[in-house]
Amino acid sequence: MENKSPSGDTITLLGTAGARFMVTTQLTASGGLWLNLNGTEILIDPGPGSIVQSTKRKLRAEKLSAIILSHRHLDHSADVNIMVEAMTQGGFNRHGWLFAPADALESEPIIFSYLKDYLEGIEILKEGKAYSVGNISFTTPIRHIHPVETYGMLFRAAGHTFAYIADSRYFDGLCHSYGSELLIINVVLLEAKPHIDHLSVPDAEHIITELKPKVAILTHFGMNMWRARPWETAQRLSQQTGVRVVAGRDGMRFDLSELDDY
Ligand SMILES: [Zn+2]
Repeated sequence: MENKSPSGDTITLLGTAGARFMVTTQLTASGGLWLNLNGTEILIDPGPGSIVQSTKRKLRAEKLSAIILSHRHLDHSADVNIMVEAMTQGGFNRHGWLFAPADALESEPIIFSYLKDYLEGIEILKEGKAYSVGNISFTTPIRHIHPVETYGMLFRAAGHTFAYIADSRYFDGLCHSYGSELLIINVVLLEAKPHIDHLSVPDAEHIITELKPKVAILTHFGMNMWRARPWETAQRLSQQTGVRVVAGRDGMRFDLSELDDY
């Protein structure tokens, strides 16, 4: 397609680790998702190592238009300060937006106050609201069930729709909210654990079966999920659901034009 940006419309996984043990051991990386769509670049959930993973992959923070946090937990927010510093070139190039739920910014803010001045502004994520940044628009359709205020996102860009289902306990609202061509799902748990507010493989299977995306990418793996080999889980889910399910891997770059093959 001639009107595509030279680098294409891509989503890069800067890490696939989820929850504390995978993240503190860095068995896999934990840098978040980097979107480059319609020429607009956005970083989502810059966990520990986001600055390392992004620079290593020659992604340039000064080109970011925004950083979005699904929630304040460390594996989603640890590098937000350094990424704001990098996005704004230490405040010499003031620009860009930070999006986060209110409780990430209130009594114990995830961002240092002096860095806030480097930004064009901060937008509070709320249930059912729509936002736009450059050529990307997104909504936060529903508040997730998680120990802190958490939202996933439904994006519309580059002629495609895709959803990022961030951390949550399973509830039917997820299936009602994230219908799209591509699902990126944070699947921390191999088996459901009733006292932990995270999605499991059976939850992911149910969501994929209900929403029938063209492609689903699993990421944010907890330790047991990792030990069970996510690529084998993905293969099994592909057979069970009839949807192409892919296990995320560090540095994986998904080109949205792949969605045109279906
Ligand atoms: Zn969390």
